Amino acid sequence: MFDSGTTCLVVVGAQWGDEGKGKLVDVLAERADLVVRYQGGANAGHTVVIGDSQFILRQIPSGILHPRVTCIIGNGVVLDPETFFTELDALDARGIGTAGRIYVSDRAHLVLPYHKLLDAASEKSQAIGTTGRGIGPAYEAKTGRRGIRVGDLRQLDCTRRLLVERVDFANRMLELLGSAERASLEEHLALLERLAPRLLPISADTGLLVYRAVAARRRVLLEGAQGALLDVDHGTYPYVTSSNTTAGGASVGAGIGPTAIDGVLGVVKAYTTRVGNGPLPTEAPEDEAAQLRELGGEFGAVTGRPRRCGWFDATVVRYAVRVNGLTGLAVTKLDVLDTFAEIPVGTSYQLDGASCDELPAEVDALSRVRPSFEVLDGWRASTAGARRLADLPRAARVYLDRLEALSGAPIRYISVGTRRDQIIEV
Ligand code: GDP
Repeated sequence: MFDSGTTCLVVVGAQWGDEGKGKLVDVLAERADLVVRYQGGANAGHTVVIGDSQFILRQIPSGILHPRVTCIIGNGVVLDPETFFTELDALDARGIGTAGRIYVSDRAHLVLPYHKLLDAASEKSQAIGTTGRGIGPAYEAKTGRRGIRVGDLRQLDCTRRLLVERVDFANRMLELLGSAERASLEEHLALLERLAPRLLPISADTGLLVYRAVAARRRVLLEGAQGALLDVDHGTYPYVTSSNTTAGGASVGAGIGPTAIDGVLGVVKAYTTRVGNGPLPTEAPEDEAAQLRELGGEFGAVTGRPRRCGWFDATVVRYAVRVNGLTGLAVTKLDVLDTFAEIPVGTSYQLDGASCDELPAEVDALSRVRPSFEVLDGWRASTAGARRLADLPRAARVYLDRLEALSGAPIRYISVGTRRDQIIEV
C-alpha cells in the first residue's frame, strides 16, 4: 500500500490480535524507511519466518529484520528493558546488525519487575487473561502519574528517589491484593543503574524523528500490536489490553499529528481467533475449532496458550473498519481454510430477538448475541502457491469477495502461508 499517495501507513489488527500483522509488516517494511511501534509492550509476539528461520519479536518492531530500515519504539509503548536487550542481543547474535538502526522514545514508560508482580497479583482477582508481563500495571502507573520514563534515567539521582516511592507503593498494592510477593528496592536500583548506560545512547525525541521522516516524504510504517477488539476504549471491555490499539493510537503513540497519516491497513484472518476470556460471538463448536486451531497453528507465540477459534465475523470487522478508518484490508491465513467443504461467515447478530448490525458496548450483551451465518462453499484445493488473484480457486475468490462486501473496505493483500513470498497483492 506504499504508493505515490501513501507514505505514512498504519498497520493494525482488526480482530482480537494475532491476525498475522508481523508478516504484513515484514512484507511492507521492505518498502519502508522507518518502522515505528506506537503502543503495547513486550506482549506483541509477532512471528516472522524468513527462509528456515523463525523470529519472534515481542518488543522490537519486526521491521528490524530489514537491514535498510530504522526502527523506533514510540512514546506510547511501555518498554520492558530486559526483554528489549535480550531480543537485541539475540538479533545481533544471528547476524542482524541493529547498531544505529533502533531508537527508543525518551517519553516511553519503563516496565519494571514490580509491574510484573502486580500483574500476577491482579490477574488472580480479575481473570482478564493477561500475559503477565507487567504491561497493564505500567500503563496504570502512567495514567496515575506514577511512571518512570526512559528519559528519567538521565537524572539517576532523582530517579533513585522516585524509585523508593514507587517500590513502596507497589508493595502496599501487593499487600492489598493479597500477594505474598514483595518488590526489592535494591534489585530495582541495580537494574536502573545497569540500564542507563545502554539505553540512554539510543533514546531520543522519537516524535521528532518520525515528524522529520514524514516531512521528507520518507516511507513510514506504524506497526500496531494486538487488535481493535482489544482496544481499551473500543474493545470488549474489560477483556481488553491497556492501550489504544486502534489507528488513533498510532498518532498519539508515535508522537505525530493525525494529519500525517495517509493510509490504514487492517489485518484480518480469514476466520477469527481470540486468546483469553471475553465474548467471541462466532466461536465454532469444539470439533471445528480444534480443526482450525490445528491447521492454523493457533497457539500463542509468547505464551503457547491455545487460541479460541471461530468463523469470520463481519460485524466485528465492519466495526474495526469504522473505528480505525481502514483504507484497506489484508486477509491472512486463507490457506488454513483450504480443506473445509463449507465455510460459515457471520454476517450480523441477533440480540434478544432483534437484529443487531453493530457491536453492543457491554460485554454482557455481546455474550448474548447470536450470530447469523451464511454458509459459503469451500474450495478444497491448496492456495499456498497462489501469487495472483487469478491463481486462486473460484470459490476462494467468491469467499474473499463476500468478506470484502460485508466488511466495507477493499482487500489489498491476501496471505496464503507463513513465508514472505506467500502473498497476493491485489
Ligand atoms: P501477529 O501478532 O498479528 O503478528 O500474529 P502472530 O505472529 O502471533 O500470528 C500469526 C501466525 O500466523 C504466525 O505464526 C505466522 O507465521 C502465521 N501466519 C501469518 N500469515 C499466515 C498465512 O497466511 N498462513 C498461515 N498458515 N500462517 C500465517
